[in-house]
Amino acid sequence: MSDLTADAVATEHPGAGNPAAPGGGRTVAAAVPPALVTRLAAGVTATGEPDLVETVAPLTGERLASLPRSTPADVEVAFQLARRAQAAWAALPVRRRAAVLLRFHDLLLKRQDEVLDLIQAETGKARLHAFEEVLAVAMAARHYGRAAHGYLRDKRRGGALPVLTHAVEARRPKGVIGHISPWNYPLELSVGDALPAFVAGNAVVNKPDTQTALTALWARGLLVEAGLPADLWQIVIGDGPVIGPAVVEQADYVSFTGSTRTGRDVAQRAAARLVGASLELGGKNAMLVLADADLDAAAAGAVRACFSSAGQLCISIERLLVHRSVADEFLERFAARTRALRLGGGLAYGADMGSLVSVRQLETTTRHVEEAVKAGATVVAGGRARPDLGPFFFEPTILDGVTPDMAVCAEETFGPVVSLYRFDTEDEAVAAANSTPYGLNSSVWTRDPRRGRTVAARLRTGTVNVNEAYAAAYGSVGSPMGGMGDSGLGRRHGAEGILRFTEAQTIATQRLLPIAPSFGLDDKQFAAVMTGGLRALKALRFK
Ligand code: NAD
Repeated sequence: MSDLTADAVATEHPGAGNPAAPGGGRTVAAAVPPALVTRLAAGVTATGEPDLVETVAPLTGERLASLPRSTPADVEVAFQLARRAQAAWAALPVRRRAAVLLRFHDLLLKRQDEVLDLIQAETGKARLHAFEEVLAVAMAARHYGRAAHGYLRDKRRGGALPVLTHAVEARRPKGVIGHISPWNYPLELSVGDALPAFVAGNAVVNKPDTQTALTALWARGLLVEAGLPADLWQIVIGDGPVIGPAVVEQADYVSFTGSTRTGRDVAQRAAARLVGASLELGGKNAMLVLADADLDAAAAGAVRACFSSAGQLCISIERLLVHRSVADEFLERFAARTRALRLGGGLAYGADMGSLVSVRQLETTTRHVEEAVKAGATVVAGGRARPDLGPFFFEPTILDGVTPDMAVCAEETFGPVVSLYRFDTEDEAVAAANSTPYGLNSSVWTRDPRRGRTVAARLRTGTVNVNEAYAAAYGSVGSPMGGMGDSGLGRRHGAEGILRFTEAQTIATQRLLPIAPSFGLDDKQFAAVMTGGLRALKALRFK
């Protein structure tokens, strides 16, 4: 690997008044030495003499790691090991399991620089965007570390007959969770989503994307250091269409994050086995700027909304809907901020945006922009790849004049590209926001928060942020996060985010009298007594 690092440059004015390269020359090779790769690779469940699979550092295009490739037989081994470990883990009190999450929280904050390096090396994103993952995982660890006991404890419920029936709702772990995760948020979407599964008493067989497996392996090591039994979290690596189905075939429940296309396949396989699945899928998210919005705040928010992790964020904004009366002014402010963004690839804070992850992402981004421009759209800012910075860099890009026939209008780009559309009425804005089969995230900007919440209630998305881009809703870890429509099924975070990893079990104990004719009552008399009883229960507002 060479000593290349991409310098931080403003997208339109390289070098003009910009700080020096963030990272001060620290390289990916120095941050991820072969000894570290070898140590992490030992955590992959792969037996015998495995094939090796190579990953590339997106910042420079050079080889990053060589990892063992698991086979479907290895996936079987992983499930066996996980199943064996799960029984003892499930027998521990919830508070003992939760203590592991709380220790992990502290270790993660202390050792964050190690994983920030890995995330940057594997994804090419800016360090600030990598830090968002540390934030999200720490929040989830704290929340489930503190709240799991409340979510999971036995709950007294109203019985069939007051006094005579004692009913309790209990939560049992599902068993072994098949957890399939993508490359774009490799820490959050591997360990962040696994934490509630563990604290609920499950084991996890995780198939991260190969490109970002080092980050997942590092997180596993840290969780084991925090007290997780090592066999409880198995990591298998390999081609999605080969290893993914093998994971789904043996899981007691499937937690999948990725594209809508793959999600449909996973859902069908899980359905055929009658096991549940949560599917966190794609989006084509809209941000609404109402006429009374604070335009500076909205422009700064739009930069975060559209260009975090170079737009490779499921909840990022790809459609800006702006009231016509403020559209030109908003666009001017947003474009000025976008043009001033510093692209960079150093392994340190300082750059505003990093690289795309792969040639595939670069090709989709380039195609969406080029096709739109050919069909009449205007580039307001950005618009080109930046091979001078690294093989997959693309400028943060704003398009105007986009029409429904253009791919960039309706398809998820998953790159740093946003299109601006104007509206005249709130109804029109709501209809436009809801006009996609997706329903993941949205954002509303207004000086009147109550009005913002009223508009939010009309949007068909699983999360809505008022006067923020995505972090307010995503970071509210006590509330569910997920998609409507083609954006998925089920939710992470909050009660739903942990209870999905449990089976509900009702234990009802009957005493004194059976729920059947007795004490000499014949069937007709029993029916009459029960009918009177039901009327009385309703009158007494019994639930
Ligand atoms: P992808 O569907 O190609 O891959 C996701 C994971 O599934 C990878 O680990 C992959 O190897 C695996 N996989 C591939 N084929 C499989 C199969 N047939 N069976 C089982 N597993 C298989 O998605 P991607 O391109 O890696 O990720 C980007 C997508 O993920 C975007 O659409 C993005 O919006 C979405 N995403 C959604 C969320 C969310 O929370 N809703 C979060 C992050 C990303």
